[in-house]
Amino acid sequence: MSQCTHALVRCMDFRLESAIEEYLENNGIVNNCDIISVAGATKDLIEDPEGFVATQIDISKRLHLIDTLIIMHHMDCGGYGGHSAFAGIEAEHAFQIEQMEKSKVILEGKYNGLKVVMALAEIDENNIVTIAEIE
Ligand SMILES: [Zn+2]
Repeated sequence: MSQCTHALVRCMDFRLESAIEEYLENNGIVNNCDIISVAGATKDLIEDPEGFVATQIDISKRLHLIDTLIIMHHMDCGGYGGHSAFAGIEAEHAFQIEQMEKSKVILEGKYNGLKVVMALAEIDENNIVTIAEIE
C-alpha cells in the first residue's frame, strides 16, 4: 500500500485553487497529500465528529498513514454564509480560527500523535488569495 505524509481538509471553493496548489508546492507536499474538499472544510467535523469529513480523515489515516493533517478554512466562506454572516472582518477572522481550533481538539483527541496544522485563507476584493498558517 502506498503512503503519503499529509492530508488537507479544505473548502470546495474554486477561488482557493491556485493558492492551494502554491501552498502544497511551498511545503513540498505536491503528490504527497490527500485532499478532502468539502464546503466549509471542517464545519462538518465539528457538527458531527463521526460524520462525512471524519470518515474521509479516517480513511486517509488508515490507508495512507498520514502524520500531518492541515485544516484550511477561509474568509467569505459560503459554508458559513460568507462575509455577510458576520458583524465584521475581525469577528469573522476570529470565528474561523475558533472553528479550526475546535477541529484540532477533536482530531488530536482521536488520533494520538497526529500533527494538526491550521491555515486560514484570506481573499481580497480581486479574489487574490493569501494563505497563512495559524500558530
Ligand atoms: Zn468555503
